[in-house]
Amino acid sequence: MPILDRPIKPVIRCSGLDRLLSCPGSRTLEALVPMDFTFSATGDEMTWRGNWVHADSARKLVELHDAVAPDGLTEPQIPKGWTPKPWDERASQWYVDQIVALTPPDHVIVVEKRYTVEFERFKLSGQLDCYTLSPDGEYFVINDDKSGTNIVDHAESNWQMAGYATLLKRQFPRARAGKLQILQKSAEDQVTSVDVEDLDTLVEYMEKRINEALDAPFTVETGYKACRLCPCIEFCPALDEEITEMKKILTPEQVETLKVTPNLAELAEIAARGRAIAGPIERLLATLKDRVIEEGSVVLKDGTQVTVDDELGNRVVSSPKIALEFAADKLGDADLAWLTMKMSLADLEDLLAEQGMMRKSKKQGVETVETWIRDTLGHLITRPDVKKMRFR
Ligand code: SF4
Repeated sequence: MPILDRPIKPVIRCSGLDRLLSCPGSRTLEALVPMDFTFSATGDEMTWRGNWVHADSARKLVELHDAVAPDGLTEPQIPKGWTPKPWDERASQWYVDQIVALTPPDHVIVVEKRYTVEFERFKLSGQLDCYTLSPDGEYFVINDDKSGTNIVDHAESNWQMAGYATLLKRQFPRARAGKLQILQKSAEDQVTSVDVEDLDTLVEYMEKRINEALDAPFTVETGYKACRLCPCIEFCPALDEEITEMKKILTPEQVETLKVTPNLAELAEIAARGRAIAGPIERLLATLKDRVIEEGSVVLKDGTQVTVDDELGNRVVSSPKIALEFAADKLGDADLAWLTMKMSLADLEDLLAEQGMMRKSKKQGVETVETWIRDTLGHLITRPDVKKMRFR
């Protein structure tokens, strides 16, 4: 067949497998999203932190622990002038320490390696943060660093990891088994892993699942995993239907049989359905807010007006260190004070009240939580201007 007549194989990214396998039609919708050709350090604080932590930990593994970076080390995509916080530095060091501790001594460590392998109907592509390989090439460990605070699925139910294992098995045909590991410092289960005993079966299964998804380009299905980071939430018909299908005409018989207290399984079913659209709704609200700021207020069909107003935000302590000293002195316990000050002024107020202080009083000259906070910490407290979206 002449080269130009050959069908172009779609490139499937491992990072998109969770969505593709749950909602095959998302690929069709995703193709409609305008592409960003600027390749600038766009994104938010969380993205920049992730970019920095990945680049810094890869560099440390190469420079201090004999890891190899076959594609070379790259500079993190961060805006000019952005600097990491101590938390980011700790996150990077934590990841490096975990890799060093979890890697079998005879394994070679490879970082930041991109692979693209060809299957009959598609190409599978992915960039691995880190993997390690035994000297005989028969066993590998994949280590994926999740530096964000959105808690990801455990390794055993994460299609991205299965995709990486598929890539590596194709790259190293001698490999028989492997371990897939996700490391996330901010998660309760910081390291989750799954052992894959038979990589041939995994590759076969993944190819079958991806082919099935390619055969269903118009099937869209909402789900927590699929929708939470989908770029199509603003125009997805399935999500729209899920959100707007909220009207129901009740029959008297139905009202009679309604269970006011569902059993645990029923409660879980309802909550799980709600969870599927909770993330997208939050993101839709954030997008709406940005658009209203840009384009002005909007009136809904039922007459509700949506505006974004300048208001005073929550109280912020400008110098937590000084406030902490006052609070520790008052509570007589620095640890207790630290716990509250790390969280919020409201926590400190609750704690003072728990310790027997009245919250408020109409009597003059009585020290209460309110007067103590005002008199002692007032000079350290500000309320920044914030933009709040209102539906009226
Ligand atoms: S928003 Fe959800 S249902 Fe719609 S395309 Fe994306 S993943 Fe699929």
